[in-house]
Amino acid sequence: MKLVFATHNKNKFSEVKRLMPEHITLLSLDDISCLDDIPETGDTLEENAKIKADYVTKKYNLPCFADDTGLLVDALNGQPGVYSARYAGPQKKADDNMNKLLFELKEKQERNAHFKTVIVLNLNGEQVIFKGKVEGEITLEKQGVQGFGYDPIFKPKGYSTTFAQLSVDLKNKIGHRGKAINQLITYLQTDPHAKQ
Ligand code: IMP
Repeated sequence: MKLVFATHNKNKFSEVKRLMPEHITLLSLDDISCLDDIPETGDTLEENAKIKADYVTKKYNLPCFADDTGLLVDALNGQPGVYSARYAGPQKKADDNMNKLLFELKEKQERNAHFKTVIVLNLNGEQVIFKGKVEGEITLEKQGVQGFGYDPIFKPKGYSTTFAQLSVDLKNKIGHRGKAINQLITYLQTDPHAKQ
């Protein structure tokens, strides 16, 4: 079965592709020649994931799932949250976002945070939602070069290194997106329409 993952992010796509069962041919937005930057105008992660999945399903008539992720920092009342990508401005630069967050937390002892992912799947006229979460803390400085986004400043609970210092497999196992994707995979393996 062909299934679109509504993302242009190559890092994210390869993180997810390695988790998919063999009978699913995972396609990115680039693979279906969708070059549009789908506007994320929702006020919640769920709304944004729905907007992206619905955009693809309506325009291309293909089964599709989309994710939206936010980094929620306790000392900042859950910010940047749904605005994580644009935290330091519309240019969506990971380095700028991390610098801003480190600056906002400069004097703070309380550095707890969590990543939350919401996935919306459109398959066979039905819409299903999956969620994943990982707790951790924001480090004092950037460490590591793997991954993307806020990975160099996020240390998952129980680990002494940041996401950017962990292998993709380990990040997938303990991380927000991996947890949500695993629920999606279980669904795809049990839903009769997804097996065709
Ligand atoms: P998106 O909804 O997946 O596009 O993510 C929104 C923002 O959160 C972007 O700035 C991403 O860089 C960041 N983000 C999403 N997933 C991760 C992750 O696994 N690690 C670090 N940052 C992430």
